[in-house]
Amino acid sequence: MLQSNKIPLVVAGGGVIGLSTAYLFAQSGRYDVEIVAAQFPPYTTSNKAAAIWSPYHIAPKEKAQTWSSASYAWLEKLAATTPQSGVRMVQLLKLEKDKTPWWQKAVPAGKVRQAAQHELPQGFSLGFFVNVPMIETPIFLDWLVAALRQMGVRFHEQTLNDLSEVYPNEGWLVNCTGLGAAALCHDPAMFAIQGHIAKVKAQHLPEKYIDDCVNEALTYIFPRQDGWILGGTAYSHLDSTEVVTTEIEGILARCAALDPRLQDLEVLETYVGLRPGRVAVRLERDPNQRIIHNYGHGGAGFTVAWGCAQEVWQLAQTGTP
Ligand SMILES: Cc1cc2nc3c(=O)[nH]c(=O)nc-3n(C[C@H](O)[C@H](O)[C@H](O)COP(=O)(O)OP(=O)(O)OC[C@H]3O[C@@H](n4cnc5c(N)ncnc54)[C@H](O)[C@@H]3O)c2cc1C
Repeated sequence: MLQSNKIPLVVAGGGVIGLSTAYLFAQSGRYDVEIVAAQFPPYTTSNKAAAIWSPYHIAPKEKAQTWSSASYAWLEKLAATTPQSGVRMVQLLKLEKDKTPWWQKAVPAGKVRQAAQHELPQGFSLGFFVNVPMIETPIFLDWLVAALRQMGVRFHEQTLNDLSEVYPNEGWLVNCTGLGAAALCHDPAMFAIQGHIAKVKAQHLPEKYIDDCVNEALTYIFPRQDGWILGGTAYSHLDSTEVVTTEIEGILARCAALDPRLQDLEVLETYVGLRPGRVAVRLERDPNQRIIHNYGHGGAGFTVAWGCAQEVWQLAQTGTP
């Protein structure tokens, strides 16, 4: 039921992008928010993410820097004030080839330092220690859902064949359907970026977060409470969600090479997620309708969600609902 004096806002999509957008609008107290999605946590792609703050596989870069920087600030604040959100700050060692990597501009001053040679794994000559938000995705998404419910946001499970099915009579529809937007918007610019993950038993070792951005084969180690997340793969235009054993074997071998403490691990779970890739994130108002599109965040949904939600907010304030 519509709450009086509030502007209706329908969010299509219940992954990190839809939930974060809904959170920002609901928090203002000025919108009557409903989220419609085929699936909610724990069944979204967002649940499969690692997830570390890292602008990866996302375009355009300048926009991504602005969104990433805004999201960094929000996540850092959550880490400091709301530990139950599953967000905390960690030291990530990013192995690099570029002396001035593009993501550095999105990190606040004083949060990055170049690693000394003796701090690098064998075979590497450049790396940076970066203080970044680490998001325990299952905890964070559940926390978001609970916070939204507390603010009176309604959740409705429905698979849409067309966005018009939930187009409100007044107010806005925000399209945050991730990869689903390929069909809903007949968008040929969308493509899946397939990613494998092996979750191994949490280790009784001091945590070490490593992300290898040098070699073509993706390798990362992100310790989490529910198990250490080892990755990964990133194959554009592959949309199978079946786990390929040789890919998992490759991940385990590459991670053990990066951190020799990681031998003979007990694998708890293996899975494949499909990142919603796009030539560039679509964040714009539909010229003829009260629809704002917010999809195609590739490998960086958690890294940019809050900054994107802020831009959706700006569009909603300047348009005429
Ligand atoms: C292996 C892996 C590792 C990753 N690691 C990181 C990381 O470390 N850091 C980071 O920032 N990002 C990471 N990502 C990327 C991140 O997960 C994505 O960018 C993010 O989840 C996209 O969020 P989303 O809300 O757009 O999509 P989704 O989570 O897919 O949500 C889409 C929503 O839309 C709904 N929907 C779709 N179609 C329809 C329809 N027709 N009708 C109704 N509802 C519909 C779905 O049900 C769902 O609720 C990773 C991804 C993968 C796969």
